Parts: sequence; structure tokens; C-alpha cells
Amino acid sequence: MAAITLRELTKVYPNGVRALDALDLEIADGEFFALLGPSGCGKTTLLRTIAGLELSSGGSVRIGDRDVTSLPPGQRDVAMVFQDYALFPHMTVRDNIAYPLRIKKVGKADRQDKAARTADELGLSALLDRRPGQLSGGQQQRVALARAMACHPQVFLLDEPLSNLDARLRLEARTFLKRLQRELGVTTVFVTHDQAEALALADRIAVMEGGRIRQVGTPTEVFRRP
Ligand code: ADP
Ligand code: ADP
Repeated sequence: MAAITLRELTKVYPNGVRALDALDLEIADGEFFALLGPSGCGKTTLLRTIAGLELSSGGSVRIGDRDVTSLPPGQRDVAMVFQDYALFPHMTVRDNIAYPLRIKKVGKADRQDKAARTADELGLSALLDRRPGQLSGGQQQRVALARAMACHPQVFLLDEPLSNLDARLRLEARTFLKRLQRELGVTTVFVTHDQAEALALADRIAVMEGGRIRQVGTPTEVFRRP
């Protein structure tokens, strides 16, 4: 079964910009899928529309077998990680990770327990009482991933989460993301403008242009010279 099915998905912003133009795409269950393309082609809009942070102007979004086109983000079973991680600076790592569970009205003991277990899986146990300002870039990234994972979403949406890391941390983070995919089988959609990143990580790549998918295939298919 497809994890994500997009049919004629269209997004026109109030200023008239057509960021998604009747886009069709299917992403398989457990797939690590990269969205590649130049700045302004609609990658972030596509991710935000799948997440429900933007409502589409036309077409449909299905997650698994559910039509979520008009559902709010909290009812879509997806988690999104942003480029700047968007951690709460005044909260500890523990509270940052537990935050989405609080929004979902999970009881305090239960959410502290889930946060601690997720932190353990990501090697963050020693950092639970620190605040984001006391962490390295790589550690902040792992906290952002832990926060997204704590709800055990079906779909993980990553918007260039590695772009602020230096080369060494980026390599570490890639290895780490692949491990998550292997061990948890979460479907991941990953936005990047970096070909090497897409090659290193993706099962399949979609190349976007002007709000549409220009090409989709395995890295070998997409990067094969004609
Ligand atoms: P990418 O992530 O590939 O850089 P975006 O999805 O951010 O592309 O943007 C696609 C197009 O939509 C661009 O022309 C951008 O300027 C426009 N756009 C993005 N967000 C908004 C917005 N909130 N309001 C109006 N136009 C937007
Ligand atoms: P990226 O290219 O990484 O997606 P941008 O710098 O294009 O990031 O966009 C940053 C923010 O500004 C996003 O929230 C996007 O929706 C918004 N934005 C982008 N283009 C426009 C636009 N033309 N008008 C209004 N908001 C925009």
C-alpha cells in the first residue's frame, strides 16, 4: 500500500503564486523519498501541504488509506522536522520531546516515560535536563527528530534538516536517519537541494520543477546520463 498518495494536488497562495500545479505522486510504505529541485520549485510547500500546515487549493492528499485533505495537522499521523529544528529555547530537552504528547493530551507520567524512552533510542539520555542553547547542532537535530518520533507517526517529513550542520555532523546524521528507517520502518520524505544528499539517502527521488514532478525514480535512474 502507498503511504502517501497525492492526486492533482494544487496550491495557489493568496498572492496568486501557483506553488503546486496538479501534482501526482505516490510514495510507498517504508520508503525513504527525496524531493530535489531548485529553490522556489515548491518542495517546502509540498511538504507543508502533506503535513496540513497549508491547505491545498485543489486535489487530494491520502495518508495510508485515509483521505486527510481537509484534516488539521494533528489528525494526519505525520511529523515534520524543520531546517532550523524549531526547538523551544526555554524548555529542557525532556519537555521539548514530550511537547507533542502534551498537545495530544497524553498524561504526564506516560509522556515523561515516552520522552525518556525516545531519548534513549537516540542516545540523548544524558542531555534530558539541558536546554537547546547548551547543545551542539547535531544534538539539537537529534532532539528535533526525537520530538517528531515520540508520537510514532506513520510519516516523517524532513525539510532540509541537515543543511545547518558541518560536513562531519551531516555524515553522522545521514547514517542515523538510515538507521531509523531500517529499525522503525517509518516512511520518510526528505527535502533537499543537494544531489549528493539525495543520492546517499534516498530509495527514490522526485525532481520538481515549477510545482510539478519532472522526473521520479531510483537514484540510478534519475542521475543516469542519457
Ligand atoms: P522551495 O521549497 O522549493 O524553495 P517553496 O515551496 O518555498 O519552494 O516556494 C514555491 C513558490 O511559492 C515560490 O515561488 C515561493 O516564493 C512561493 N511561496 C512560498 N511560500 C509562500 C507564501 N507563504 N506566500 C506566497 N508565496 C509563497
Ligand atoms: P525555503 O526556500 O527553504 O522553503 P524560503 O526562504 O523560500 O524557504 O521561505 C521561508 C518562509 O517564507 C516560508 O514559511 C515560506 O512559506 C515563506 N515565503 C516564501 N516565499 C514567500 C512569498 N513570496 N510570500 C510570502 N511568504 C513567502
